[in-house]
Amino acid sequence: MGTKNRQVLLAERPKGMPDDSTFKFVETEVPEPKDGEVLVRALYLSVDPYMRGRMSAAKSYVEPFEVGKALIGGVVGKVVKSNDPNFIEGDYVTGMLKWADYTAAKGKHLQKIDPDVAPITTALYVTGMPGLTAYFGLLDIGKPQAGETVVVSGAAGAVGMVVGQIAKLKGCRVVGIAGSDEKIAYLKNELGFDEVINYKTTKNIREDLKAACPKGIDVYFDNVGGEITDAVLSLLNFHARVALCGQIAHYNDTEIEKGPRVLPYLLTRSVLLKGFIVSNYDDQAEEGVKQLAEWLREGKIKYKETIYEGLENAPNAFLGLFRGDNLGKMLVKIADDK
Ligand code: NAP
Repeated sequence: MGTKNRQVLLAERPKGMPDDSTFKFVETEVPEPKDGEVLVRALYLSVDPYMRGRMSAAKSYVEPFEVGKALIGGVVGKVVKSNDPNFIEGDYVTGMLKWADYTAAKGKHLQKIDPDVAPITTALYVTGMPGLTAYFGLLDIGKPQAGETVVVSGAAGAVGMVVGQIAKLKGCRVVGIAGSDEKIAYLKNELGFDEVINYKTTKNIREDLKAACPKGIDVYFDNVGGEITDAVLSLLNFHARVALCGQIAHYNDTEIEKGPRVLPYLLTRSVLLKGFIVSNYDDQAEEGVKQLAEWLREGKIKYKETIYEGLENAPNAFLGLFRGDNLGKMLVKIADDK
């Protein structure tokens, strides 16, 4: 165990796109776990778009990060010292921990993971928060039926990739929207998406969507918002369902954009549009994890990870989410699992 603990703090609240001035690196002593606490050596850190919301002071479903304090995110790590009888040295755990080499956390806030069941990083992805988001948003709100057409934006990202695969398992035609040809090739050739549109190179996204969805759109899983969503909403079928999951195209906006007025489309087609936060489903999470783990084991859900090396690259990995640098889940490897 090292004696120094690097941490990444929120240096200031960003206006618009965060940059280097948003983050501050400090080095402290490795904390000593108190009674009931466990000292965790971080191995992998998850960077997630929702963290942008927590960097601002605006009221939301979760408290803002505090300026001058360590950022917090999903971590998979190894117990190096335990003052909680439920954990022993060497246990693999996951929890919401500091962007740091080490965190002393209450045992009750950690979950054990079994490295023999699946690679440990899947606890931050398919069987973790992004997988559950895809699972509940698509199945509970989208309610896809065999033969229907499901469109997913942000299709090559962590959530989108799982959404598309679950929709295929349910017998749907799946059309993705993503930002590079490499992503499109992966979704079509490896994951079996029926069509994928490159929103960065298309001349007319609405026309391309129309061609890709000859029977219209029954379910839209929205990860991004903006003009992509404007186009999709104009092509919805009667009784379509929209799972409003994310709006990454707007997370760095400094002003509220005025877009097309979409409510008439929703009204005249009796559309259900529902925003949701994955934690709405906390009481059913166990069922979701079980099903996702089974699909993973059976090879019915495949996954990709983009892994940046070193805590020093965590800010860059986070900013990479807004550049579209990731195929699948964006992770940061903090330490070797020795
Ligand atoms: P992700 O999709 O793995 O990463 C973000 C992706 O968004 C990027 O790879 C990029 O791909 C795309 N993107 C970035 N800026 C964009 C823009 N202006 N327009 C269109 N696409 C853009 O992230 P994730 O973790 O899976 O999250 C996806 C969405 O779900 C996010 O909006 C997130 O906030 C939301 N989410 C919601 C919940 C919930 O509980 N409701 C939970 C988890 C995530 P391209 O190359 O395709 O541009």
